[in-house]
Amino acid sequence: MQEIGDNIGRLQSEIAGICSRMGRRPEDITLIAVTKTVDTDRINHAIECGIRHVGENKVQEVMEKYDLIAKKVKWHLIGHLQTNKVKYIIDKVALIHSLDSLSLAQEINKRAEKAGVVMEALIQVNVAEEESKFGMGMEEVDGFIRHIASFRNLKISGLMTIAPFYEDLSMVRPVFRELKVKYDALAQMDLPNVEMRHLSMGMTHDFAVAIEEGANMIRVGTGIFGKRNYHI
Ligand SMILES: *Cc1c(COP(=O)(O)O)cnc(C)c1O
Repeated sequence: MQEIGDNIGRLQSEIAGICSRMGRRPEDITLIAVTKTVDTDRINHAIECGIRHVGENKVQEVMEKYDLIAKKVKWHLIGHLQTNKVKYIIDKVALIHSLDSLSLAQEINKRAEKAGVVMEALIQVNVAEEESKFGMGMEEVDGFIRHIASFRNLKISGLMTIAPFYEDLSMVRPVFRELKVKYDALAQMDLPNVEMRHLSMGMTHDFAVAIEEGANMIRVGTGIFGKRNYHI
């Protein structure tokens, strides 16, 4: 377990280092510990070591762990969300990172109304247009936002992307940069139901580049809990 605390400490100082180089404030970067496949003892240990945000990519895992995890964290649903599972997480997660279709938006809005909450979500954008990844195309974002303008129980609070894995990190930079440009453009537009506050990009292997390019939320699994076997 001890390596978890060491990893978190090292990550926090790396984040601080990048921020000081970039003239940004470390407290403006939200570190989400990605806890998929991690057992609750290890998650609770990470919380004791300072983690305040956890991310799961499966509804099932949120449900299994929710009551066993210390109450002082915010939950993030970061993986693909099927419409028929929205009802299970609507009163549990603080932010859905994987909003990628109108039908999902409609279901979230409906379930949030029933639960008496306003759900915040990020639009997942498949910037690099990879076949294997979820997310809408960059060109679909504006039309989508127009459609959800009248929704009362769903708010768009930012954008998220999962970048392709490149060994050479200079290749990933344009992906992050492109999403930041979109984020800034939307922030300027004063759209109903949209407030650009979170730009969720960067994982263990590319978070430094993501922060350099403007991310204010990073999702780190391996870098905290070590290698696990999973598919995104
Ligand atoms: C697993 C996962 C991460 C974390 O990946 P690591 O490489 O382990 O840091 C981030 N975002 C999403 C959507 C994931 O599924």
